[in-house]
Amino acid sequence: MLAIYAANPDLSIGRKFEEQSTPLVNGVPVRNAFQRDRDRIIHSTAFRRLEYKTQVFVNHEGDLFRTRLTHSLEVAQLARGIARNLNLHEDLTEGIALAHDLGHTPFGHAGQDALNACMRDFGGFEHNLQSLRVVDQLEKRYAEFDGLNLTFELREGILKHCSIKNAQQLGDVGKRFINKQSPSLEAQVTNFADEIAYNNHDVDDGLRSQLITIDQLQDIELFAENMAIVKTRYPNIELKRLIPETIRRMINQLVLDLCETSLNNIAQLNPKSIQDVRNAPYLIAFSDQATKKNQALKQFLRKNLYHHYKVNRMSAKAERIITELFTAFMHNVELMPDEHQMAAKIDHPRAVADYIAGMTDRFAIREHRRLFAVEEYL
Ligand code: MG
Repeated sequence: MLAIYAANPDLSIGRKFEEQSTPLVNGVPVRNAFQRDRDRIIHSTAFRRLEYKTQVFVNHEGDLFRTRLTHSLEVAQLARGIARNLNLHEDLTEGIALAHDLGHTPFGHAGQDALNACMRDFGGFEHNLQSLRVVDQLEKRYAEFDGLNLTFELREGILKHCSIKNAQQLGDVGKRFINKQSPSLEAQVTNFADEIAYNNHDVDDGLRSQLITIDQLQDIELFAENMAIVKTRYPNIELKRLIPETIRRMINQLVLDLCETSLNNIAQLNPKSIQDVRNAPYLIAFSDQATKKNQALKQFLRKNLYHHYKVNRMSAKAERIITELFTAFMHNVELMPDEHQMAAKIDHPRAVADYIAGMTDRFAIREHRRLFAVEEYL
C-alpha cells in the first residue's frame, strides 16, 4: 500500500551508471532498486567499520554502550516503523538509515571537529558529505565503477544538510539546497528517526555510565512525565527496569506525535506525487509541544553528557590523535599505505582526510602508536 507521494523504485530517477534489473520471478524483479541499494550498503566495508566507531563513548570504554552500528540499526528500526505507518517505501527508508553515518570519523563529533579544523584550508570536512563520498567514490567493490552506484533517492536521503557552496559541486543531489526544495518523505522520516534514536539512547547510555543521573533528569519533562507513569503503574519497580520502561515510553510518545503531526501535514497539502513533496516545506514534523520537549532533552544532553568533563577528556585525546595523524601524513605522504599514497597524487589533503575518516577508533589509536611510539615497529 504505497502512497502516491512515496518514493517508488519503478519511477526512480536512477543510478549514475545504468544497470540491468535483477532477474524476474513471475514478471517482477527479485529485488527492487531500493532493496538493492540497502543490500549494497550492508555489504560495504564502511558499514562493517561502524561497529568500532564511537557514538558518544569510545568503543573500548564498555561493551554496553551504543556504537555507530547499533545506533544505525536503531535508526533503521524506528524509521521503518514510521514509514510503514505513513505508507512510505520501507526499503528506501531503511537504506538511508543504514547509510546515514557511513562518513563518520573515529571518536564521534570530537573526531569530526578535529578533522574539519585540519582541513580548514583544503575545503573542510563534514561527516554528512563524507557519507555521500563513501557511497559515491570511496567504496571499491565493482569492476565498472567506483562507489556503490546507488539510486538518486538513496543518495538524496544521505545528504541531510549542505552549504550552498558545497551543493554547487554536487550535481543532481546538490540542486535541492540551491532551489530550496525538500527531500523525499523517506529521507525526512529518517532524519527524525535519527534524532529520536540518539536522544533516547544517549539518556540510556548516559545513565548506565553514571555520567548523568535520574535526579538531574527530573527537570526534563519528557523523561519525568514518563517515569511518573511507570512508577504509578509499578510502584516497586527496580531501577534496572525503570529506565528502559521510561525510555521506551519516551520513544513511543515522540514516534506517535511524529506520525500524527506528519499525517495531518500531508492531508493538508494533499500531495499527488513525490514532486509535490519536494516542492513543499518539510511535511514530516513534531507538534510544537513535542518539539519543545525534545529540544529540552537535547540541551540537557549537550550540557550534561556531551560536555561532561570525562567526555571532554576523551574528546581532547581524540583531537590530539586526529591532528597528529593528519600532520604526519601531510608532512610525509609515504607514511600512508600505498592505496592512499596513490589517491594523494590527485589531492593530498583529501586523501589524508579520507584515510583518517575511514579509521575505526581502535585503528586510529593503534596507527597513532605505530607512528609516534618509538618502541612500536609495525
Ligand atoms: Mg546518526
